[in-house]
Amino acid sequence: MKWIIGAFAHETNTFSTVPTDLESFRAQTYLQGEEVAEVQRGTETVVGGFLDVLEQRGDEVVYTVSSHATPSGLVTREAFDTIGGQIVEGIAANRDADGILLALHGAMVVEGIDDGEGHLLGLIREVIGDEMPLVVVLDLHSHITEELVDRASMLIGYQKYPHTDMGERGREAAQMIVRIAKGEVTPVVSLNKPPMIPVCGTCHTEGGLYKEMWEVALRSDRPEGILSTSLFAGFSYADIPPMGHAIVVYADGDMDVAKTEADQMAQMAWDRRAEFLYTPTSVPDAIRQALAVEGQPVVIADIADNPGGGGSNDGVEILRELITQGVTRAALATIYDPKVVEEAIEVGVGNMLTTSLGAKTDDFHGQAMDVTGCVRSIWDGHFTYKGPMSRGASASLGTCAVLDIGGILVIVSSKRIQSRDPEMFRAAGVDPMDQKILVVKSAVHFRAGFNPIAADIIIADAPGLTALNLSQFDFKRIQRPLYPIDL
Ligand SMILES: [Zn+2]
Repeated sequence: MKWIIGAFAHETNTFSTVPTDLESFRAQTYLQGEEVAEVQRGTETVVGGFLDVLEQRGDEVVYTVSSHATPSGLVTREAFDTIGGQIVEGIAANRDADGILLALHGAMVVEGIDDGEGHLLGLIREVIGDEMPLVVVLDLHSHITEELVDRASMLIGYQKYPHTDMGERGREAAQMIVRIAKGEVTPVVSLNKPPMIPVCGTCHTEGGLYKEMWEVALRSDRPEGILSTSLFAGFSYADIPPMGHAIVVYADGDMDVAKTEADQMAQMAWDRRAEFLYTPTSVPDAIRQALAVEGQPVVIADIADNPGGGGSNDGVEILRELITQGVTRAALATIYDPKVVEEAIEVGVGNMLTTSLGAKTDDFHGQAMDVTGCVRSIWDGHFTYKGPMSRGASASLGTCAVLDIGGILVIVSSKRIQSRDPEMFRAAGVDPMDQKILVVKSAVHFRAGFNPIAADIIIADAPGLTALNLSQFDFKRIQRPLYPIDL
């Protein structure tokens, strides 16, 4: 059989003032044609999962493009038209294919287009019509629209947050599209959107309500006709009408089964919605608590400046408080500040640098601070994920400088990337086990890699574009009322 695959992902924080242009995708991942397989084969990514199954079957695979950019502001029309256009062209040139597998995000907002993924699937359906199977894997932080559901044969969302199941969902999608193409199953779908948005930091799957919901959704005695259930958490930092929680259930030909299940899961989320609320710890208290913990390292998550959700990655409020409280054994990954990296290169390794660090992107992430530190090392920023999430995939922070500010080791980067793997410290020459406190810029993903080494984890309430308290965002276009913004 013959399949077309493509990947195009962006999680758009519409409050961010940083536009996401073609260069943003090029700077992150932008693979074309055969490169897609060469780079992603064997990795625990969605495309890696597609390839595991399709190559095992000995099928023919056509690669279009695989591209994603770090979460930030609106995707430009040029970027969308260029990358989305390459996927559509690849499909148009291979209409004899048996089906299309896409790895998208589900929270891409383009200039003038709220539903980037739904729009892309519309362009694809214009080319192939309604018949060709089209199975899409989405991040669980997705905005699900009727259009998106209508245009896909099946949407499959990640089940794990941290997203440790990307490869697994890719394999599931590839197996499913084969069954659909052979006519073995006929998916029918039910979408239910309770008027709520689970707050990002609380809907992880290591404990709590979201984990319980998944256990119910995947129970061993669920009705046999169910082909797939996705519990899309939604992505809170997008001021667009479809923002919110979404349950999507596919059953084999039986609409009643799909609808009963979707309604039941939505009711469970709604009835217990208060369990998604969460109050993070103030920054001074977070550091005091960390210092009181026996053992190390204690991980403090700067949840509100998470570049994985559109944070600017350059807030220094936790660093400021570490210095205020006299902490001398800590490490921080990362502060995005290419200007300081250049200055560090100029003064050279082993020399002192006095500069203004951080908070250069916008007014949402606190103030810059004057620091003096020793340039401990300059690093090219390349590393390979070794934790459970994206294992084997490589990434780059751009050129980095490690500054030693009175015993606090600060990795200053030239690119924005969520700190979700201890390997980021190790590759920068910083032993994470040697620190009393590790500060990471991440909401939840860090848990996958850091749980095994952390003496404790504390969620700190610094300012930023991915803050847990949604009432501080000026929402104008979302559906109201939406819990917990409208309690
Ligand atoms: Zn996500």
